[in-house]
Amino acid sequence: MLVMKFGGTSVGKPERMKKIAELLLSTPGKKIVVLSALSGTTNALVSIGDNLLLGQKAKAEETIATLETHYNTFVKELYGSESFQAIGQEIVSRFFIFIRLLAAGHFDNKGYRELLAQGELISTELFYQHLQERKISARLLPALYFMSIDENEEPELEKISVRLKPLVSSLNNIEIIITQGYICRNHRNEIDNLKRGGSDYTASLVGAAIQAEEIQIWTDIDGMHNNDPRIVKKTVPISELTFDEASELAYFGAKILHPSTIVPAQKMNVPVRLKNTMDEKAPGTIITSKGTEGSFKAIAAKDDITAINIRSSRMLMAYGFLRRVFEVFENYKTSIDMVTTSEVAVSLTIDNNTHLTAIENELKKFGVIEVYKDQTIICVVGNKITEQKGVLNKIFDSLSSIPVRMVCSGGSTNNVTVLVDKGNKAPALNALNEGLFGLK
Ligand code: ASP
Ligand code: MG
Repeated sequence: MLVMKFGGTSVGKPERMKKIAELLLSTPGKKIVVLSALSGTTNALVSIGDNLLLGQKAKAEETIATLETHYNTFVKELYGSESFQAIGQEIVSRFFIFIRLLAAGHFDNKGYRELLAQGELISTELFYQHLQERKISARLLPALYFMSIDENEEPELEKISVRLKPLVSSLNNIEIIITQGYICRNHRNEIDNLKRGGSDYTASLVGAAIQAEEIQIWTDIDGMHNNDPRIVKKTVPISELTFDEASELAYFGAKILHPSTIVPAQKMNVPVRLKNTMDEKAPGTIITSKGTEGSFKAIAAKDDITAINIRSSRMLMAYGFLRRVFEVFENYKTSIDMVTTSEVAVSLTIDNNTHLTAIENELKKFGVIEVYKDQTIICVVGNKITEQKGVLNKIFDSLSSIPVRMVCSGGSTNNVTVLVDKGNKAPALNALNEGLFGLK
């Protein structure tokens, strides 16, 4: 069985949705199809929810009305026959009655999460009816029947698997099973989600839960590229990656994948293939446990990083010092990306400044604290690159004209990470593209 996930832009226009139907028809075998909301919808729902939380009902209603018009136009173009256009209009009006109902009542975070779920619920229903109109046999399987997260917001892979397997076997003769990406239930059994971009994660969880043959993530770019195409002129798609390489790249900024996507697939050793809906013949990127060793694969960058430097004479020879420093971050549920130490100082980076002031205040008891905002992590990835000779030379030769604030190497054999001021990100990515890949 295959899991095929289509993102917002792949379902965002009626003709693109029709194209997905073609693609499913030309793909043999049973598949679970995971869909995102139409592009722009989740952003609109976030804005509606934000306005409602602030009590700005009129502003929220304006966005609701614009979104409703968008959907009405969408269904007019999606369905060919009058009877299915009527079905489409019914679906749209039912969803918007419900959205207005959520908006009219007491609106809290629970209502907000329910509101966010509507995007995937409506896209899957519209797509299902499109298949019905074309007499393509398919079923809708609600993600809220099987997808769940625990009290730490971590997906419960085993429970998901136990629920999903019988559901899928109950649809034994159905080749196309459609489900929602992104949405789930939380430990209070309320509607929740897997965070923005979470449909990729859904696909991977589903693929791992049923031990699919392959998880395919269909987007609008021909696979993972060796560098950020928005910043660097010449980039090339990468044909093969290991799970570890892909995880590092997704985590450190490759926008093509939600950063947690690889985890479940890797756990169950299910290959992940990145494909392009706009160019289905393009080979894309295949991510598996096997890889070629020792060569540079890609560079990714992650912005909005804050570096914190703690200088302390007490660190000198003291055991337990790092534990106490890390504990501060743990208490504020703030994760650390890079760490470097010297005998009298430790530098680390975080990507979430929510509790920065409180963290800074607590760290002051250890010594002198310096904080540098607006930093960028640049991550050079390649299977076992740190075991090769001359790798660091090549990286630093490329970066010879750029000041580097921190360097991490050796934590994993797959990457070397450097921290630069955000203003130096573009020059650094370009310099590495030329120095490591000969591309300019
Ligand atoms: N619709 C959600 C979002 O825009 C999930 C996704 O598309 O992956 O974040
Ligand atoms: Mg996405």
